[in-house]
Amino acid sequence: MNLFNVYPLVNITPVKALGAKLWDDKGQEYLDFYGGHAVISIGHSHPHYVQRLTEQLQNIGFYSNSVQIPIQRELAEKLGQVSGYADYSLFLCNSGAEANENALKLASFHTGKKRAVAFKGAFHGRTSGAVAATDNPKIVAPFNADHAISFVEYDLAAVEQVLQGGDVCAAIIEPIQGVGGIIMPSDDFLTALAALCKQYGALLIADEVQSGYGRSGKFFAHQHAGIRPDVISVAKGMGNGFPIGGILIAPELKASYGLLGTTFGGNHLACAAALAVLEVIEQENLLAHATELGHYLRSELEANAGAEEIRGRGLMVGIKYDFPIKDVRDQLLSEHHIFVGNASDPTVLRLLPPLNITKAEVDRFLQALYALIPAEVKK
Ligand code: PLP
Repeated sequence: MNLFNVYPLVNITPVKALGAKLWDDKGQEYLDFYGGHAVISIGHSHPHYVQRLTEQLQNIGFYSNSVQIPIQRELAEKLGQVSGYADYSLFLCNSGAEANENALKLASFHTGKKRAVAFKGAFHGRTSGAVAATDNPKIVAPFNADHAISFVEYDLAAVEQVLQGGDVCAAIIEPIQGVGGIIMPSDDFLTALAALCKQYGALLIADEVQSGYGRSGKFFAHQHAGIRPDVISVAKGMGNGFPIGGILIAPELKASYGLLGTTFGGNHLACAAALAVLEVIEQENLLAHATELGHYLRSELEANAGAEEIRGRGLMVGIKYDFPIKDVRDQLLSEHHIFVGNASDPTVLRLLPPLNITKAEVDRFLQALYALIPAEVKK
């Protein structure tokens, strides 16, 4: 049987990984500034993570969530403490798209309304419910064309116009747009959006699938604006590569049996992975580290990368050029053995290194980038 060929694969076979480094089957070392679509938060094969997962596997590996799973409560407690959302509840699932589907479903049940408002260029997932939560025409299937999500610019008047329809259950927003090209609504915009949602009886869903878990230097990117969304969706960095997602739910939203459900969500191994991530974030003070190294990386890029704009916060960084970055990205990998990401905007390089990246590794990336930038764009 063949694999269904729906995304391109880099012709590299990693056989070993540690921290921000990978090695392929020929012994070549690589530096990972992308983390496989932003999933590597605490570094590859972190010893605490490996130990936690191994112990869990030797104990009770998997069992579906039809029985008591104490490690789920342990995870909820730790996440509440580390994120500053101890009064919220946690629903666990397996991916970012699933988290957003559950968030939108919950908002719709809670308000009795069916429409949502989202932002142009956003990406909230690809499954048939969440596929409607992007306006990327390459992703939206014909049956989703008539979806109930209105996509608007980052324009409060446009948001208000949709909210005035009276049928909006939620606004969903990435506090830092990832796939779209590291686009940041301002803190004031987020604050005003939260107020508008309240005024019109809609919930605010913060999609922190990519920007959460310390990536921006705070646990959640929306915390830079000081807002408290009604629902926060998480995945990616939550499990450092192990599939897990979830939503954090405000106390006003009441649970009832059957409202949401899942077979695999919150299984033992996924919870062990997610707990290990939180423990390492705390023990190694990774929020402060991401702030410091992110600041260093961005200020170096601003001074020397010949870019049009350096975007992002913490270690979620976009380098916007005035030319397509495909060749630079390809050469970073083939000549300098460094993985970086792209975005739906072909002129943006997307950087998502592990939160415990070292200064020496940042410098290695910078030197490689500077060597590749076309001479005419250098300052
Ligand atoms: N939300 C955001 C902000 C994302 O970046 C992504 C994936 O890139 C998703 C949701 C979907 O996550 P998943 O691929 O785990 O379904």
